[in-house]
Amino acid sequence: MNREEQGVERIRIPNRVANSPVALPDIMMAAPFLSRLLLGASAPGLALQAAAFGAYAGSAAKDWIRRLGVRKIEFLAVYGADVSHLPAMSLEARRAEIAIFTRKLNDVYRPMQVPRPELAERVNEALTRYIAGITGQRVETSDSIRSFMLAQFLFPFALGGCDFISGDVAIFRDTGIFEPHVIAHEFSHRKGYFKELEAQALAYLALVASDEPVLVQSAYSERLHRQLRIVARKEAGEGAAGENHFHDLVDRASLKPELKWAFHALVPHLSAVERGMTVVMRRLYDERMRLTGQNGLSDYDEGFTRFLYAVENGAA
Ligand SMILES: [Zn+2]
Repeated sequence: MNREEQGVERIRIPNRVANSPVALPDIMMAAPFLSRLLLGASAPGLALQAAAFGAYAGSAAKDWIRRLGVRKIEFLAVYGADVSHLPAMSLEARRAEIAIFTRKLNDVYRPMQVPRPELAERVNEALTRYIAGITGQRVETSDSIRSFMLAQFLFPFALGGCDFISGDVAIFRDTGIFEPHVIAHEFSHRKGYFKELEAQALAYLALVASDEPVLVQSAYSERLHRQLRIVARKEAGEGAAGENHFHDLVDRASLKPELKWAFHALVPHLSAVERGMTVVMRRLYDERMRLTGQNGLSDYDEGFTRFLYAVENGAA
């Protein structure tokens, strides 16, 4: 412990499931199908499922007990905004922000060459330090990441996932400069911030506060990409029209070519089948979010950008 950290309390969440070699949430989901396929609805099949459930529930219970000691950031008190207190943001203000962050990104840009395990460690430390700076408590969690979870197939539009019960985190796609923000978002969930707006905001604020160019650029990229998506939708409408317009806006922006390429790659062109699947799953996901006290998928972009606007302009 170095001097500046003296007096900071530490709490360690074991995340045993996240550190296990196989994705236990996947086995939980797959075991009923697999056991029926391989073993019939037999006793060994049930035993496999029970074993997976036992390991999963056991580890999750340990994490849960440890989390009871976590002091969480009170968003409204600390930032003057939260998921239900967000100021409006005009189209003009959004366009102005696009110009500002285009400049900032061109200035800070460097290629992403940090291997994922090292990046995960650096992101986790930035997030832990940022949260401790507010709560006085270091919430130490695992920095292990998977590259596969079943949820990837259910939510093809997602870049990463976190199983809230076990804290298992997976990154689904290589997103280059965006990856530190994706990791920080999922790690925020792992530290107990389950709401999407909170994960988006903490990831952004922690990466910017880190002063590490690769992390700062990722936060700026996420913010610019969300603003571009919103402006594209407001100018051209939802669905394919909005997505095409997003690509137009990226082309028209005065971003460095490497940055343009990364922004284009983040929003892939979907086939008709993929688009249909995405629409259905997004609707389900949106409803699930509303059932848990959130505003729905708009928290990822509308909510996120309005929150930061509030923080920087003296609150809602
Ligand atoms: Zn999330």
